[in-house]
Amino acid sequence: MKTSIATVSISGDLKEKLHAIAKAGFDGVEIFENDFLAFDESPRQVGQMVRDHGLEITLFQPFRDFEGMPEPLRSRTFDRAERKFDLMQEMGTDLVLVCSNVSSVAMGGIDRAAADFYELGERAAKRGLRVGYEALAWGRHIHDHRDAWEIVRRADHPNIGLILDSFHTLSRKIDVNSIRSIPKEKIFIIQLADAPLIDMDLLYWSRHFRNMPGEGDLPVLDFMKAVAATGYDGYLSLEIFNDQFRGGSPTAIAVDGRRSLIYLGDQVRRAESSGLTLPPMPARAEVEGVAFIEFTVDEAETSALSDRLRALGFRHVGHHKSKRVDVFRQGNINLVVNTDPDGFAGVSYALHGQSAYAMGLWVDDAEAAVARAVALGAERFEQPLKPGEIKMPAIRGVGGGILYFLDRGSVLARIWESEFDPIDDDTDLRPVGLTGIDHVAQTMKYEELLTWLLFYTAILKAHKTPMVDIIDPAGVVRSQVVENESGTLRITLNGAENRNTLAGHFIAETFGSGIQHLAFSTDDIFATAVALSKNGFATLMISPNYYDDLEARFGLEPTFTDRLKTHNILYDRDDYGEYFQLYSPTYGEGFFFEIVQRSGYRGYGAANAIFRIAALRRHLRPIGVPKL
Ligand code: MG
Ligand code: MG
Repeated sequence: MKTSIATVSISGDLKEKLHAIAKAGFDGVEIFENDFLAFDESPRQVGQMVRDHGLEITLFQPFRDFEGMPEPLRSRTFDRAERKFDLMQEMGTDLVLVCSNVSSVAMGGIDRAAADFYELGERAAKRGLRVGYEALAWGRHIHDHRDAWEIVRRADHPNIGLILDSFHTLSRKIDVNSIRSIPKEKIFIIQLADAPLIDMDLLYWSRHFRNMPGEGDLPVLDFMKAVAATGYDGYLSLEIFNDQFRGGSPTAIAVDGRRSLIYLGDQVRRAESSGLTLPPMPARAEVEGVAFIEFTVDEAETSALSDRLRALGFRHVGHHKSKRVDVFRQGNINLVVNTDPDGFAGVSYALHGQSAYAMGLWVDDAEAAVARAVALGAERFEQPLKPGEIKMPAIRGVGGGILYFLDRGSVLARIWESEFDPIDDDTDLRPVGLTGIDHVAQTMKYEELLTWLLFYTAILKAHKTPMVDIIDPAGVVRSQVVENESGTLRITLNGAENRNTLAGHFIAETFGSGIQHLAFSTDDIFATAVALSKNGFATLMISPNYYDDLEARFGLEPTFTDRLKTHNILYDRDDYGEYFQLYSPTYGEGFFFEIVQRSGYRGYGAANAIFRIAALRRHLRPIGVPKL
């Protein structure tokens, strides 16, 4: 399986694009005519530049409005094709993409189109070139790959073949199994794109909202399974028109693109016997739970953080044998506080200040999880070990944080005992009944949300939920969740559209994305609330108006609503059960804790978000006022 991407998919000038594409590990690139026209070098130099990057030009595109033209337009169309052939030969590619005619004067007729392609095939053959025909979803007469295939079949010319594009087929809900009977040598290349399900004009949808396979809602995997069934093992080429990508970082988008193709190829290989050849990699990691969350803080801030954790019912249970690292525990929750100036924690502190910069996950096989991540283009993370330290497999996360993996089958299972000296915490404060981590909430810029989603779902055995809009008084935050079936992994991703929202403020002030809140679970939120209050922990005050509304919305008993109100507990319900939430105030630039009780409920309290955001904002210094 070879990977390619169209230059139109990413931002920058041609040189920047090629650099990013090569760096991400692609084998080939589709040259979009406009990217070439806007560049100052000759076709020969462009071709050389591509090859200097170690890439192959997979095709040149697009050639429009070709088949079924009346004279004298028909003759002119062939002249136009000859000029493109000149250019292709200079550039050094043998394949051109002809998309189905959209001209109002095109005449239609399968045999007429086939005859035109036969003639084009004869002209191409003289130069050793090939022509691939693609049905645009909005083509005037041809807008279905089955009709395009019939034209190619009737043209019956070795230099004429078919180009299949997942967007054009799937956007029109054409049965993908019709692909299975196409001979693989007649498929000249496969173009891939996904898209979110939006009901809109096909052309507009295609030109602005395409995204990488796995990032959208189209059944691209089914499409690819049908392609693979033909025995096709040529290029898989991304053709993504997306306004956000064209405004984003070329390197990041290219990395996402390559990851999406490798992940797709891996899924196809696991689902059905196919001709796809790609390097073996372990299956997605099965997450058994969050092992720990690690904070980086400086010496001066540790006592404030330790006091806060103790008031939340945590006990200081261990001190690292060779580093300034402490662990606090309650139930199955381990919070690691790292004040070591050496190593990545120190670097992260220097860059972002106090933050929850690392997460450890219990998985079935820690080394396998890292091997898979690396195969998908993630970066392995390593730093020098201190005496007695166990090497913990890790990768760099998307936002600059670290993701560690632990498993029960290796020495990692006893990491707490082997690396830490036990400590007997003499605090008078009591545990409050926290049992585990319900979810980890990460915040990033909205335009990076898809990158995070793809990263997690490609590496971990988890799925994404539909996007939910969270209304912040200062703008919208788009939220999507990565979770697994058993609920042992729940990561909420919040994409901030502007820096005035609570989420946007957090990113701007911590100079990066990352964990903004941790939600702990309890089996009895009222008991937890009472215990917190005995520990002197002040929970976030919720507006009394919320409770009036809640009582009416769910038809709650006034005595029950009063209990919720007394403890500042938020409430929600779905078809599966109930959900209770309470919050800490915000700390620093917007970090906070949440405590939840979940009985079957599957959501995350989105309906309550507007109330808790309003309450949390009261604790921040005025947003937008520069730090002095
Ligand atoms: Mg296409
Ligand atoms: Mg939450």
